[in-house]
Order: sequence, then structure tokens, then C-alpha cells
Amino acid sequence: MSDVVGPGLTGGDAGAHYPEGVRIDLHTHSTASDGTDAPAQVVADAAAAGLDVLALTDHDTTAGWAEAARAAQHHGVALVRGMEVSARSGHVSVHLLSYLHDPTHPDLLVEIERTREDRISRARRMVERIGEDYPLTWEDVLSQTQEGTTIGRPHIADALVASGHVSDRSAAFATILHPGTGYYVPHYAPDVLDAVRAVRAAGGVPVFAHPGADGRGRVVSDAVIEEMADAGLLGLEVHHRDHSAQQRARLEDIAHTLGLFVTGSSDYHGAGKPNRLGENTTAPRVLETIEELGTLDVIR
Ligand code: AMP
Ligand code: FE
Ligand code: FE
Ligand code: ZN
Repeated sequence: MSDVVGPGLTGGDAGAHYPEGVRIDLHTHSTASDGTDAPAQVVADAAAAGLDVLALTDHDTTAGWAEAARAAQHHGVALVRGMEVSARSGHVSVHLLSYLHDPTHPDLLVEIERTREDRISRARRMVERIGEDYPLTWEDVLSQTQEGTTIGRPHIADALVASGHVSDRSAAFATILHPGTGYYVPHYAPDVLDAVRAVRAAGGVPVFAHPGADGRGRVVSDAVIEEMADAGLLGLEVHHRDHSAQQRARLEDIAHTLGLFVTGSSDYHGAGKPNRLGENTTAPRVLETIEELGTLDVIR
């Protein structure tokens, strides 16, 4: 159940009805992971951008939820509490969005804690390797994070930007942080079918994030999406800037065939990426479905 109950909440499973024209962005990041703005700032920016509903979906953590919830009530934005779970299918990295899950459920908690721990060791190893060629220390990277941040390559990028080695995160990812270099080290992540089951066990609504984003690396086959659907996947994030028109058409077809709903989102990371809040949005009836199926309430 919700730990923050806002005015106008009906409670239980009675989801709200969202009128047409409501603007909904279901994928954003804060300083709890690799976004550059604090959770309250992301919510304030969402209000300023004219969004009615925002999901905060930091990588492998729910640490930003409480602050975002307070800001949401202050700014009159509805908040969908979410998370982006790092997972893998074989050696292919897969991101799974989870909406409105119980953040204390052990099946999911054990996996994200293991991932966050290993992300730290992995980042340290990458910094050791990079440090052989560039003046970069672990302290430089830590100074780009806050207590409890889910550490990732973006924080190494920020340290490289701060020392003047690259101009911005994108330049760092195109060069030093690219998986094709000798500096890259992978991190632990659960198998995506286990991740889907863990999200469902925790009462969450699993949505495959940017499933066709082949600019980031390899993407999974249609057969894997079908296996994910069999494991309990409920939606595909079709409308995302990393998808071409052809990818969107292909993914729409797959969603239709497998009976999955379709979302659209910005994947906002503050100043860390060009993605702008509300650049892609999700239909009100899809949010109604997510709210019906999720364990937590939307905060408003
Ligand atoms: P990691 O999970 O530590 O391997 O880092 C991947 C994260 O880096 C993703 O969640 C993205 O948000 C971010 N990222 C990937 N490519 C870029 C890029 N070109 N510019 C900025 N951020 C990126
Ligand atoms: Fe990210
Ligand atoms: Fe992602
Ligand atoms: Zn994301």
C-alpha cells in the first residue's frame, strides 16, 4: 500500500479516470541514479513543462520516491512511483521498467541490491583501467555522486568532463566509455525473465524500456520479447527517441500480437542527455491500466 496518501486518493484498486489530453511521461531519472537533477527538481521541471503525470524511474533504486512524492503534491503533478531494473538476456543488456511495485518485496529487492553493489565494484574496475591512461581517480567519480546513488558510467563520464578530458557525457560514451574499448567492464544484472517475474511478484507492472534502441548496443530478438510476455511482461515502451520510425512500427506490431500495451516516454536525465520532458507521452487509458494492475497508488 501507499506510504504517502495524497488528497483525492480513492485508495485500494479504484484507479482514476484520466481525461483525454492529460500529458503523461513515464520514464525519468534523478540524482538517485544517473539524472543530474534532484527528485524534487525533476518534478518541478515536469510541472513547468506542462506535464500532468510523471513517473520517476531511477536505475535499480527507489531512493528518490519520498522526495519526489512531496514535490508532486506541492506542484500538483501526479506521481507514478517506478524504477528501471537493469537486466540481461544472455550478454544483451535489457532495461525493464517497473511501475507501482512494493519496494520492500524481497524478490525484487535482493536483485537490485546485488546489482547496485556490483555496479560499484565494476565502476571501480573501470576507473582503474581508465586511470592507467588518464588522470582519473575513484574519488573524482564519487564526487559526482550523492550518498546512495546507483553508480553508472554516466558518473565516470561526469568526472571525465570535470577534468576536461571530454566535452560532455555523450562524448565520453562515444569514446572512453564505449563497450568496444578496453576500459569497459560489465556488471551483474539478473536474467530478464527472472526480473519480469520479480516485478510481478512485487505487485509491479513491468514494461520493456526502449526495446529497439540498437544505437546503445545489441537488442533482443522478437522471440525474447515473446518469452518476456509469457513470463508476465505487460507493456512495451515504443515511443522513445532511441527508436526509428521502423522500430516503432515493428514494436507496435509485436505489442499488438502479444497483447501488450504501448507507452511513450522521454527517459529524461536532466542535463545528462538531450531528452526533454514530455517529448514522448503515454495515453491516459494505458496509465489507467497500469494503475489498476499496480500495487501502489498514484500519488496526487
Ligand atoms: P551503465 O548502466 O552504467 O552501463 O550506463 C548506462 C547508462 O548510461 C544508461 O542508463 C544511460 O542513461 C546512460 N547513457 C548511455 N549512453 C549515453 C550517452 N550517449 N550520453 C549520455 N548518457 C548515456
Ligand atoms: Fe540512465
Ligand atoms: Fe534505460
Ligand atoms: Zn532510463
